[in-house]
Amino acid sequence: MLLCREHGESWAGLTPLTAGDLPYGGFCSWGTSDMHVCGRAIPAKKPSQ
Ligand SMILES: [Zn+2]
Repeated sequence: MLLCREHGESWAGLTPLTAGDLPYGGFCSWGTSDMHVCGRAIPAKKPSQ
């Protein structure tokens, strides 16, 4: 499950994936019971060099 920074922070106690764990990026899969999904793009980790 991928979570953007905003929703990842609300999952205290778990270890959500972050950009640092996604070499190719992804989309936030956080959703509500009414099938709304965040879908926010999670950017891939950019090389620091
Ligand atoms: Zn999100």
